[in-house]
Amino acid sequence: MVTRSPADRGRADKGTAFPYHGGMKVLLISPYELGRQPHSLAHPAALLRARGHEVVLVDLTLATLPRGGLDGFGLIGIALGMHTATRIAMGLLPELRRRARGARIVCYGVYGPPNRALLRGLGVDVVLGPEFENGLLAVAAGGEPDGGLAKVTFVVPDRAGLPPLARYAHLGLPDGSRKTVGFVEASRGCKYLCRHCPLVPVYEGRFRAIPRDVVVADAEQQIAQGATHLSFGDPDFLNGPTHALRVLAVIHDRWPHVTFDATIKISHILTHQDLLPRLREYGCLFITSAAESFDDTVLGHLDKGHAGEDIGRAVALVRGAGMALAPTFVPFTPWTTLDDYVGLLARVRDLGLINSVAPIQLAIRLLIPEDSYLLRIPGFREQLQPFTDAILGYPWANPDARVDVLQARAQAWVEQAGSECSRWETFAGLWRLAHEAAGRKVPALAAGCAGPEGPQLSEPWYCCAEPTTAQLAQCAVGA
Ligand code: SF4
Repeated sequence: MVTRSPADRGRADKGTAFPYHGGMKVLLISPYELGRQPHSLAHPAALLRARGHEVVLVDLTLATLPRGGLDGFGLIGIALGMHTATRIAMGLLPELRRRARGARIVCYGVYGPPNRALLRGLGVDVVLGPEFENGLLAVAAGGEPDGGLAKVTFVVPDRAGLPPLARYAHLGLPDGSRKTVGFVEASRGCKYLCRHCPLVPVYEGRFRAIPRDVVVADAEQQIAQGATHLSFGDPDFLNGPTHALRVLAVIHDRWPHVTFDATIKISHILTHQDLLPRLREYGCLFITSAAESFDDTVLGHLDKGHAGEDIGRAVALVRGAGMALAPTFVPFTPWTTLDDYVGLLARVRDLGLINSVAPIQLAIRLLIPEDSYLLRIPGFREQLQPFTDAILGYPWANPDARVDVLQARAQAWVEQAGSECSRWETFAGLWRLAHEAAGRKVPALAAGCAGPEGPQLSEPWYCCAEPTTAQLAQCAVGA
């Protein structure tokens, strides 16, 4: 479907260096965005449409490429904000290149620059990073991007032409009710330098706030579409706490029935614990936090800025303020032992987090992409195998081969369990696999140790998990 939104042009930025050219037919594709309506398409769509370009948006998780073929498109942009999205795009690109010979293909997002050579080899003409908008506008205007981290002038995303929010991941509540979820961003980048984080090589400790009126207007249009819950996609919502709270104050004042969730690092939960009641007051239901590991050695390698024991403190603080904490993990690393993994599962159980952790979080294997700050650990690169396109990273083997076997089994089990099994059932399967791999008797899981039922987003997968077979299959080019 061709989607233009002249009414929204007036809201778009008038002040960038790229004048109105008009006329180009642009196709923007999102391979995967965590079950969210893609902001990575809607924001550039607003900018492009404001300059008179005709923009078609395709979210490959819910739609196929235009049935009428790809002739006539002068520019095809593919959003690569996540590992999973990039793996899916790799399968798509050869056929896309073959069928859209006249188009310039641009890949953009966090996973663009580290995979530049690979993408160019697959026929991509231009590779841009996560601050891609000015470069994309330059290409649409017939020019070339000037590179660098040029400041983007944010506008209200134009979501016209994307599937309705009701088709995206919803939020399930413990009472069985569902909320339609909107997705907003109040900032980009991050001021921290966690070594495993794909943002770090690009932003190098910088972040920028998105203007409050832009964030609120984007929330407003999604609330008008039926959203009763907003998921903030900021890498860390409290990088700029004053900005975040001002945004929340406006949204809560205008739509007090709308709840939200946000991602906040463990150390921020501790240092900003005085803000937690305010977050709850403004409608926060749960906080996602990258706990990664309970092991201080691993946390030190990742330079996470928190210790294993801080995770339990954060859980208690967040619960004490009336919210839930949903930790994410990187349980399988080159430093993980079988005992570590059994210990991680035991800590999840003991903290009553079984119902709070998405099962895929207990199967993720550390990714080491090109440019990763992990490669700066003295002697670490020498322990890795050469970079391989197949996984978009440096393969590694755990010194104990049984750990790698366990990881593969854990991921297969989580994929098999999918949404058919409860989190408790999936955890019980991992619990058995872990103990058997460690040659231990499998202890019974006591009734009631799963912890409180909390709000859960229905998307079962994760941005840095290996894509599933079904996800890879979605790269088929429409006839
Ligand atoms: S705090 Fe989160 S977003 Fe920021 S660098 Fe660390 S992992 Fe990345």
